[in-house]
Amino acid sequence: MRLTAFTDVSLRLVMRLAVAGEGELLTTRTAAAMLAVPYTHMAKAVARLAEMGLVETRRGRGGGLLLTEAGRRSSVGAIVRELEGAGDLAGCEDDPPCPLRAACRLRGALAQAREAFYASLDEVTVESLVSPSVRQVLRVLREDGSPA
Ligand code: SF4
Repeated sequence: MRLTAFTDVSLRLVMRLAVAGEGELLTTRTAAAMLAVPYTHMAKAVARLAEMGLVETRRGRGGGLLLTEAGRRSSVGAIVRELEGAGDLAGCEDDPPCPLRAACRLRGALAQAREAFYASLDEVTVESLVSPSVRQVLRVLREDGSPA
């Protein structure tokens, strides 16, 4: 199982915002450059995270992105669950749909396995991901994504 690029970008962003200094407001463009993702992907992640109440976007001169208190306390499991959605892990309902789907037991087993994966991430908070060593790496990222 692999996270979608959208979820990965979103998690990179919340981790970087979690170590922002006092008064430091990254713009979407700067965050995209630092975290080595295309601007359009970052803009979509920002919009979704703002909608979920995890990131605040301040507009205007001196504006930028802030992690909300809810974002800081959120579990990684809750974020991943929300962003990944509840679709099948395999192509059960693709076009054409899988001919086994009426009697398939694998489909349910995969859904259960995914829930176990999410449940293990429920124990992990955004805050807990930014230990001092990670904090150091995240804080010194330059806008070309390389360490200072
Ligand atoms: S075999 Fe089962 S899990 Fe796989 S695609 Fe078909 S219905 Fe889905």
